[in-house]
Amino acid sequence: MSTQTYTPLNGAQSLIYTQTNLRRAFPDFEEGEVASIHLRNDHCIVAHIDGSHETYERQLVVNAYLDFRSRLKDFFSYLGPNYRGPSPWRNEMYVMFKGWHHAHALGHLSRNAQLQTLLADKFTRIQHEEELLALIQSDQTDIGHLVAPNGIRLQDRPISLDGELDDQPKSQPMRSEPYCSCGSFQSQFRHLSLFEKEIPGFKPDCIHLRWHRRWIQHLGQLTQVRNNARNGQPSNVVAWWYAPPSDGNSDGNFVLLHTKSGAQAPATHWRLYGRGKTFTQHDAWTLFNNMMEADYLPVPGKYLEQLKPFVKNNQLVSTNA
Ligand SMILES: [Zn+2]
Repeated sequence: MSTQTYTPLNGAQSLIYTQTNLRRAFPDFEEGEVASIHLRNDHCIVAHIDGSHETYERQLVVNAYLDFRSRLKDFFSYLGPNYRGPSPWRNEMYVMFKGWHHAHALGHLSRNAQLQTLLADKFTRIQHEEELLALIQSDQTDIGHLVAPNGIRLQDRPISLDGELDDQPKSQPMRSEPYCSCGSFQSQFRHLSLFEKEIPGFKPDCIHLRWHRRWIQHLGQLTQVRNNARNGQPSNVVAWWYAPPSDGNSDGNFVLLHTKSGAQAPATHWRLYGRGKTFTQHDAWTLFNNMMEADYLPVPGKYLEQLKPFVKNNQLVSTNA
């Protein structure tokens, strides 16, 4: 019987060396029946209720934690009403919508989705962060989060033309590192020095900031495709529709039509992409990336009147196109 005593896990360690992260690192690991988790040098020691012990490589649990914390959620996860991306608030902060409208076939009827529609254009009227957070993430609402992917920067003060040139106001960063109001980011932020001690070079991150980095890349690609086209009107276009799952658990249906004759081309000029294949929300990032690399511009199909007879409720009803 070992007489070695263990120091309890600190605030950062207890978020990293969890049963869930152990299972992510070691798929055979069985959750439950665990009496305690301790650290010894490079190892994570799991004591079971029956008195047995198992030893796991500490670094692999850390890697599993970091991977899960910054995993890329699907394209629709953080789009608001009308596929709206994060909306600028102030000080270079954005309101990032949770994808309530796209989570479920009836998701647009949920209270959170309806609140999003009601408030989406009104956030800029709110002055204070606490007030905004109370509206978007509270016991009553779960609309989204406040993210600052490039740090928080105070707005420029109005320039006075009478002022001295040397007094030109410059915007000052209040915080130069990325920031998110979500629980995961905040708990890393709270225990930052412990995390830094545990994981060299540690920076707080979360699924929202990860998604936002991918979103910025997506917007850059969109601009590139438009810039490559004459008059900014690409003739290579992909129209897409997304029908969320009806049960909220299975996958949705992602449908794409493509043409070489421009967005306004009549329906006879469009062809189904990937005939015989089915695509879901999990294919969206990759498909968008591939089409834009091939210089095709993606367009939400609901804006294309001439294709409406072919698609009802975001489901293709005819493959005539
Ligand atoms: Zn976050």
